Amino acid sequence: MSTGYIDLHLHTTASDGVMKPSEIVRYAKRKGLQAIAITDHDTIEGLEEGLSEANRIDFEVIPGIEISAEYSPGSMHLLGFLLDINHPLLKERLEYLQKARAERNPKIVEKLNRLGIEITYEEVVKASGGGQVGRPHFAQVLLEKNYVRNYQEAFERFLRKGAPAYVDKFRFKPKEAIHFIKEAGGITVLAHPNTLHMNGYSDLENLILGLVEEGLKGIEVYYPEHSHLEVAQYKILAERHGLLITGGTDYHGIEKNGLDIGVGRGDMKIPYSMLEALKAARNQSHSTAK
Ligand code: AMP
Ligand code: ZN
Ligand code: FE
Ligand code: FE
Repeated sequence: MSTGYIDLHLHTTASDGVMKPSEIVRYAKRKGLQAIAITDHDTIEGLEEGLSEANRIDFEVIPGIEISAEYSPGSMHLLGFLLDINHPLLKERLEYLQKARAERNPKIVEKLNRLGIEITYEEVVKASGGGQVGRPHFAQVLLEKNYVRNYQEAFERFLRKGAPAYVDKFRFKPKEAIHFIKEAGGITVLAHPNTLHMNGYSDLENLILGLVEEGLKGIEVYYPEHSHLEVAQYKILAERHGLLITGGTDYHGIEKNGLDIGVGRGDMKIPYSMLEALKAARNQSHSTAK
């Protein structure tokens, strides 16, 4: 039995993190973790590098993803774990998302230009470090060019939903995301349920039960932005319905309000047994009929 600790929610430069996949793998090992999942937003482009670095330094990396699903009024993110990153359907679905972003990003540039902000798409691409381009990179350029005083102001004034430079992005329906994650051999877990902005326990329970019908297997119970009460509620919910429990820090490679890999704000401890449970569920659901 393994007794180490893990982190099942991390971002790299392949999406909006600031550490390269190989860097975050080395960092995780240096911090004494036993395994991590790389879960970039809408892309698996960082995984080849992450997995090969893990292999090189004898560390365990779980191929994962975080998909933004269609949902309102809050936001729904779905984590996919233990993916076959070469699966054709997964690759095709993610390429579609990239195409949608390629159409969206120039529209954000246009809106900013019309607001009198001199910004080019090339500058934003440069800020992304070669990975997927998203709103955080627009925020970064606005900050570098002194249009805003900080990252948060960029979102408040320009980029958040409803702000003048906002352009909506394409999202798969939860059912569609769960389907292609499953087809690629993966397990889907509902990320940070508190961003769903549900009114109460029973509404959340109903929503989750609907997702379970569609193939959801677990809930991310441990997360730095969850209150003690939320953690307790999500844990009860998972246990009551036989769902897997995961935890991760959503670390983006920068010290943000004291948040670090593995430990979150200092008090997180995600045991390796959670990963073992994920693997067992994967083996079970993919050995029987699909
Ligand atoms: P995108 O996928 O391009 O729409 O960008 C989404 C990312 O932008 C999220 O993962 C966050 O990192 C960041 N983000 C979204 N809304 C905000 C906000 N109000 N304040 C700060 N960061 C935000
Ligand atoms: Zn992010
Ligand atoms: Fe998320
Ligand atoms: Fe995340």
